[in-house]
Amino acid sequence: MTPRRPSGTNWAGNVRFSARELRRPASITELQDLVAGSDRVRALGTGHSFSLLADTTGVLVSTAGLPRVTDIDRARRTVTVGGGVRYGELATRLHPAGLALPSMASLPHISVAGACATATHGSGNTAGNLATAVAAMELVTADGSLITLARDTDGEQFAGAVVSLGCLGVVTRLTLELVPAFEIAQYVCEDIAAAEVSRHFDEVFGSAYSVSVFTRWQAGRDVKVWLKHCPGAPGDPAPPPRGRSWLGGRPADGPRHPIPGLDPAAATGQLGVPGPWYERLPHFRLAFTPSSGDELQSEYLLPRAAAADTLAAAAGHGERLAPVLQVCEIRTVAADELWLSPSYRRDTVALHFTWIRDQGAVAPVLAGLERDLVPLGAGRTGGRCRASRRRPFGKCISACRISRRSPASMTRPGPSRTTSRRNSSPLPNGLVPGPARLIRRTWCAHPDVRACGGRRIGSGLGESPNVRRRRFLA
Ligand SMILES: Cc1cc2nc3c(=O)[nH]c(=O)nc-3n(C[C@H](O)[C@H](O)[C@H](O)COP(=O)(O)OP(=O)(O)OC[C@H]3O[C@@H](n4cnc5c(N)ncnc54)[C@H](O)[C@@H]3O)c2cc1C
Repeated sequence: MTPRRPSGTNWAGNVRFSARELRRPASITELQDLVAGSDRVRALGTGHSFSLLADTTGVLVSTAGLPRVTDIDRARRTVTVGGGVRYGELATRLHPAGLALPSMASLPHISVAGACATATHGSGNTAGNLATAVAAMELVTADGSLITLARDTDGEQFAGAVVSLGCLGVVTRLTLELVPAFEIAQYVCEDIAAAEVSRHFDEVFGSAYSVSVFTRWQAGRDVKVWLKHCPGAPGDPAPPPRGRSWLGGRPADGPRHPIPGLDPAAATGQLGVPGPWYERLPHFRLAFTPSSGDELQSEYLLPRAAAADTLAAAAGHGERLAPVLQVCEIRTVAADELWLSPSYRRDTVALHFTWIRDQGAVAPVLAGLERDLVPLGAGRTGGRCRASRRRPFGKCISACRISRRSPASMTRPGPSRTTSRRNSSPLPNGLVPGPARLIRRTWCAHPDVRACGGRRIGSGLGESPNVRRRRFLA
């Protein structure tokens, strides 16, 4: 048996886990025994979520010690990988085999299972979130059983289980679909006005394989556009012309960090120098601290069709954002069929905020922003801070069906978490953690739908936000 340890904090340090112990099983059998013998269990990947999503009052199970299989099937172009493996490590196995992942998040530091569970995404008009690459997965469910779900054979149950927010079991292995290895040449164009991006949204986001727009929503030309081109690939648009204006701005004359003023050494290669996909698709290098390392993050995913209104709404908060915002990143994500994905059946524009690490100062700004974004169709990603408790994901009600049909949910019969309303108090200094709270209250906390609360959220969706809020706050 693995030693018991204190459960510690998440990567950002803004969440101190309330789990009574942290365990790190070294084999699937040990994991099965641990899960079967515990009343409450939650999987922990690399702890890069900013919300309470990975927390539990029971046993926190780190996946870092589980078998790190990487079985590459060249003929089928798939890899079967241990859930605790980090994308950065997986990539270095795939590339020499001539294979690649079609998309990556901004950082390669996160675990495959943790990222897929939260629908983590990169950017690209045709790039779905990372969970869309999953073709099959193996998980240990609440009674310790080891089950497999596959896209080809398990239809709706699979579609409802891939983005699980950690509620259905501990994912031990995933089979991911791959593409042939490719190169990326990354360019940064700067001194662009936000209005230009809004006016030419489709052109900007169609101008490379993967595009990210960084802004602080300040007047003038504070926008930087990161363009990740596939040189020589059919249909890849031409890179920005050297020495010529692009969207009123110009190509950067040196490497940049996504956060203005930080050392670009932590950022992946730029200036159009081609490199392997895994050294360009993320913004940050594996060997460095990603982002600023001293921050909070929130993200809203809205229908792409509402992009212009979304950008206008965010720009309207420019003055209030200035003191608390390190940088905002705008990305696009392709529609998918995964029930809890924020891009479920809709192309999406993602508005991501890297805040200073001061929850008290950020909370009111976030609340104001959310008031304007939610009416436009905003949903939130699982791992981030948010201001309110409204519906975070595409298909929450239906997700309850999965928990009912699932062989076992992660919390075994016993007092339901949904009954504890006292748990709804915000994090210290006022921020409310991400969908974890909603999920705890409403989804998969118990295989019994009455305790699961599916009906409650089902009727709640028809209620006015204020009525729903009172219900959650009661
Ligand atoms: C600097 C930084 C940059 C980021 N950039 C991006 C980005 O570009 N795009 C984006 O979408 N997100 C981004 N994120 C958010 C991050 O990708 C997600 O929070 C992701 O879930 C983190 O993966 P993890 O392995 O740390 O998971 P954890 O935070 O450890 O866990 C997340 C959830 O997954 C569950 N889980 C973990 N492992 C398993 C398992 N084996 N089986 C079942 N459930 C499991 C947990 O229970 C929890 O519910 C960023 C975060 C940071 C800190």
